[in-house]
Amino acid sequence: MELPFAEPYKIKMVETIRKSSRTEREAWIKEADYNLFNLKSERVFIDLLTDSGTGAMSDRQWSAMMEGDESYAGARSYYRLKETIEEVTGFPLFLPTHQGRAAENVLFSSLIKANDVLPGNAHFDTTKGHIEFRKAHAVDCTIAEAYDTTCESPFKGNFDLNKLEEVLKKYPKEQIPCIVVTITNNTAGGQPVSMENIKGVAALAQKYGIKILMDSARFAENAYFIKMREKGYAEKPIREIVRELFSYADFMTMSSKKDAIVNMGGFAAFRHREDWEKCQMYTIIYEGFITYGGMSGRDMNALAQGLMEGTEFDYLEARISQVAYLGQKLDEYGIPYQRPAGGHAIFVDAKKVLTQVPQEEFIAQTLGIELYVEAGIRGVEIGALLADRDPVTRENRYPALELLRLAIPRRVYTNNHIDYIAAALKNVYDRRQTITRGYVISKELPIMRHFTIQLAPAR
Ligand SMILES: *Cc1c(COP(=O)(O)O)cnc(C)c1O
Repeated sequence: MELPFAEPYKIKMVETIRKSSRTEREAWIKEADYNLFNLKSERVFIDLLTDSGTGAMSDRQWSAMMEGDESYAGARSYYRLKETIEEVTGFPLFLPTHQGRAAENVLFSSLIKANDVLPGNAHFDTTKGHIEFRKAHAVDCTIAEAYDTTCESPFKGNFDLNKLEEVLKKYPKEQIPCIVVTITNNTAGGQPVSMENIKGVAALAQKYGIKILMDSARFAENAYFIKMREKGYAEKPIREIVRELFSYADFMTMSSKKDAIVNMGGFAAFRHREDWEKCQMYTIIYEGFITYGGMSGRDMNALAQGLMEGTEFDYLEARISQVAYLGQKLDEYGIPYQRPAGGHAIFVDAKKVLTQVPQEEFIAQTLGIELYVEAGIRGVEIGALLADRDPVTRENRYPALELLRLAIPRRVYTNNHIDYIAAALKNVYDRRQTITRGYVISKELPIMRHFTIQLAPAR
């Protein structure tokens, strides 16, 4: 008999989570103004709000923390992290930051001026926020397949190279500080970018004299997909693929809360000394001295260890197979989601589930609330609430897709939890015809409203 798959780790410490009753959850979600961000985490049984900073650290990461050097300048922990970053990514220079968006802030402060144009494959929301905050423009050049949830393309995070070249042709190179390559493409559903596509981007970058930034939160998951799906990479070790990926970039920003499996942390890394030097001042004013930049020594140690563990094949196989397992369960039940399953999450296609809820009543949010009330599971809306209002007309923007994202934390839940999630979703799916009304806004902030929004049932 062929042996089944099993995780390459065992559990040394556990945290109790509690089930609740439907009546309790109905009261709690009302109290939270129907905003899942407003729920106390104790009132959630399985939390799939995000895979960011929610992973379980290993015994080696915890023991590395005990050896943290908390010196203000030149700490051992800094040099340990520097060596690890160079070993894993090939970048010789880096600046620590407290998380990924802080790395964007440091890099973009030195890089971007008003009216600049930054083409990319669906910029992550904080990346876009940092670009637009500087009155520059993020231009999406993702392939069209990314927005068709039924299309089974292996590299749905790819650039449309024609779209990219149009942008590079249209604007003078002084106006394009860099191309932003996001691996994996989070916005498109944790979908990977192929090495071939990255090479295509690099060829265009070279032709037009533009630098490449890799927004790298899930670079290891991207490398795993390349190994599994791209011709010529099956035999290559993950770390070799990772180094090849980064060999095409001039700099990277990293949210260590994702593939480096720590609860907090980030960094920017650089190929060219002059870019690194220009960013030092911003690190000092926004984050801290250049050898700690918002991180304690112990956290840099845990991050260094996490970078090594996060780029091990066996770990990545367990991680990505678990997300795929949830996808298979949904296939069994006929529940539609962004195909194929992504690296870090399943994105349920809410428009295809709740066909009777009008878009003005927030379809994906409605599905998220139903799933919470059904079973105490918390996902997150990627739909009209997140898309916010048009800054000029103040009208609601309705994106093409209404998705409920179920992000899977790293090394946290077992496949029994996954079975529970799938069953809960099936129960909601089975009664989908009875869900005809959604929610209306009772209170919202002018930007990034989804975090704090207050809703009420539509009548
Ligand atoms: C999470 C993330 C960021 C921002 O990182 P934080 O650590 O949350 O500040 C940037 N880009 C991508 C692709 C991300 O997934």
